[in-house]
Amino acid sequence: MPQHLPIRKCLILTSGFKLSLLTLLTNRQLFLRHLAQTSDAPLMLEIERAEGIYMYAPNGKRYIDLISGIGVSNVGHRHPKVVAAIESQLGKYMHLMVYGEYVQSPQVILAQKLAATTLSKLDQVYFVNSGTEAIEGVMKVAKRSTGRSEFVSCEKAYHGSTHGALSIGGGEYFKQAYRPLLPGMSQIRYGNIDDLEIISCRTAAVIIETVQGEAGVQFAGKAYFQALRDRCTFTGTLLILDEIQCGFGRTGTFWAYEQTGIVPDMLVTAKGMGGGLPIGAFLAKEEVMACIKTDPFLGHLTTFGGNPVCCAASLGVFEALETENLLSKVKQKEHLFRSLLVHPLITAFRSQGLMMAAEMPDFFTLKKVIDLAIEHGVVTDWFLYCDNSMRLAPPLIISESEIREVCKILLACMDKVMLDETKQS
Ligand code: PMP
Repeated sequence: MPQHLPIRKCLILTSGFKLSLLTLLTNRQLFLRHLAQTSDAPLMLEIERAEGIYMYAPNGKRYIDLISGIGVSNVGHRHPKVVAAIESQLGKYMHLMVYGEYVQSPQVILAQKLAATTLSKLDQVYFVNSGTEAIEGVMKVAKRSTGRSEFVSCEKAYHGSTHGALSIGGGEYFKQAYRPLLPGMSQIRYGNIDDLEIISCRTAAVIIETVQGEAGVQFAGKAYFQALRDRCTFTGTLLILDEIQCGFGRTGTFWAYEQTGIVPDMLVTAKGMGGGLPIGAFLAKEEVMACIKTDPFLGHLTTFGGNPVCCAASLGVFEALETENLLSKVKQKEHLFRSLLVHPLITAFRSQGLMMAAEMPDFFTLKKVIDLAIEHGVVTDWFLYCDNSMRLAPPLIISESEIREVCKILLACMDKVMLDETKQS
């Protein structure tokens, strides 16, 4: 046996014991050993199954998912309509051909449904696999269709982690190590009307979240979006709304932009769209979208984009939203959260439907509350660009009594943290 190998590896290599020794390593150890890590402090929650708003650890401990897997499980985990739609599609086919060639009914029906959500103002859909990929797609379409290459986006915006999406991202901390990124990118302050002057006849598109998620739930309001729309129309710039986090019912309307009175030129979605399966899409008018099919033809390709099983899952999400009338109850649930989550540690509360942020004095206090809440079976989080605010984005199916239960737990955690802090000072 080679002497230089770590003991554990040597043992695994000893064939007779291979399986039994492998099982000695826990999933948590294997996670740290074999999964590439995104930080030095992963959450490390081990979940065996999830249903509705609940997730269950292998020891049976129950957690309430108050962040919906970061805006994904809008209709809850394993919603029966989503599961049924997936199962039905599994019995037919899982993959036939790369995107855009065959007529696959789950894609066709889903595209028609998505177009209808925009009242057919954006009547064509391009399917992809994720949010960041949808952003790459709109950037390419915007360049081609306008013949321009400059983009304007916002400070504290998050649009994804691939190179194009990172280039329009709003945080220098995340960008600096990966430069050079795309040239011709400018950032404006979200919600600041004066900054709209930067948008010029050289700007291909403005890409903006209708409600900024990772900035800690910020909504610029109707007047801002109207001014932005006017400026884009004046300069011939495409207005692209990123509704990856705030779309699919999260704010109480199907799209958050419905609350602004404007219509974008392109719309980007993912996350909640698949009810737990990976799918994204971008929507535009046919005349905008047409540019990617010629000169060069096949201007944007994807093998798995619009995977039929994922499209079926998304149709299940539509069915769940419709049959349970979930959108109509969002505002009521938001108000309940707002009325219950009153505590000296909460210094501000921002919300757009069930996309909510409870601000605390600082990260350290917030982190103590979050850790304690997880211990008590409530999973929450903070935001990429706003580390003093608690992320609250439960599945839309959460009931009034569950909201009361969860708020009671959170308030008790805040009481405990406050008491500990006063004892220490
Ligand atoms: N845009 C927004 C607003 C997002 O919140 C996210 C993901 N947090 C993305 C884009 C990127 O999506 P994905 O992680 O699916 O690539």
